[in-house]
Amino acid sequence: MTDRSEHDPKPETVAAAHGVASDPSYGAISPPLYLSSTYEFTGYDQARAYDYGRAGNPTRDLLADALARLERGAGAVITSSGMAAIDLLVSRLHVGALVVAPHDCYGGTMRLLKARGERGQIVLRLVDQADTAAFTAALEHGPALVLIETPSNPLMRIVDIAALGAMAHGAGALVAVDNTFLSPALQQPITLGADFVIHSTTKYLNGHSDVIGGAVVAADPAQVEQLRHWSNVVGSAGAPFDAWLTLRGLRTLFSRMERQQISAMAVARYLEHHPAVAKVHYPGLPSHSGHAMAGRQQRGFGAMLSFELAGGVEAVQRFIGAVRFFTLAESLGGVESLVAHPATMTHADMGVEARSVAGIGDGLLRLSVGLEAEDDLISGLAEGLGACAA
Ligand SMILES: *Cc1c(COP(=O)(O)O)cnc(C)c1O
Repeated sequence: MTDRSEHDPKPETVAAAHGVASDPSYGAISPPLYLSSTYEFTGYDQARAYDYGRAGNPTRDLLADALARLERGAGAVITSSGMAAIDLLVSRLHVGALVVAPHDCYGGTMRLLKARGERGQIVLRLVDQADTAAFTAALEHGPALVLIETPSNPLMRIVDIAALGAMAHGAGALVAVDNTFLSPALQQPITLGADFVIHSTTKYLNGHSDVIGGAVVAADPAQVEQLRHWSNVVGSAGAPFDAWLTLRGLRTLFSRMERQQISAMAVARYLEHHPAVAKVHYPGLPSHSGHAMAGRQQRGFGAMLSFELAGGVEAVQRFIGAVRFFTLAESLGGVESLVAHPATMTHADMGVEARSVAGIGDGLLRLSVGLEAEDDLISGLAEGLGACAA
């Protein structure tokens, strides 16, 4: 990137142009994809910048640098999935370390932490992080790591990263925030005091639903070194081609987010006034409990929302049969709009009781709002909702 100015480029510029025109061989504008698994030594005991692909790869490092800059961290490690990113963070803990996580965290995160807990590798405490008394009580047990997810999935609950982070630090814990739902375009947890940011790059960062990937960004260079070391030890790094695709997706992150959240707001407003809808969970609506907090902590309200159908599970089935432009699928953050039914899909593993404690009912649907025309999205939803009463 040709950048002769004194000050750091803005995040939009980093996303669009980090590594552009940096190819010393041919002056390629788009950064080359290095697939080689190994690198020539220049001579006896003389490695170059890269020696072996598990330890390091130029394409992967370019993505890591871009994400570290966007998240204002000291560095990042790219993993083969979002789950591998969380596991990398957990694998660095000592046996028996206490991890405090939200009781309504991402289903895969819950499964991973529980599995590690059942084998005695960590001790897990799940807590409603919106409940300050419960959070304070959990901290009294001396956690090594506190995991925060905001907005939460699928109810979009907002917690105060700076306040919870300060409390966790006071108890001697390190703080990791899963920033998958907003991306650094809309929230930068490190600037709010977090030690680590976790991403499923599968979602908004890649944005095109064609890569599974993850990243851990660390605020402290010593933590970055440790993460790099462990990534090489356990071999959890993402593939170079995946990094290249993700970097290509990242180029348009800010434009996608900007457009998608405008449509999400329009969709939320539309749903809020529809008689078939009992409740809408979108932090952009003044009726949402986290609206003020989201306004302070985020740069936008994002493009994820959920809503409850008044007619329960029968209405869900009718809706799904009739809705247009929202495809029934897991995942989120792509250019195409998706609808998911948490109780039978993303949160099925949680079990009925845990779902009811977390407030995830059978009539709840989650939307990932994509880049289709806003009018099409709303008329597509109208068809689905029209069928609910039938
Ligand atoms: C998808 C997701 C993950 C897991 O990421 P994968 O790339 O699917 O392994 C973790 N956290 C959140 C919030 C997610 O949405």
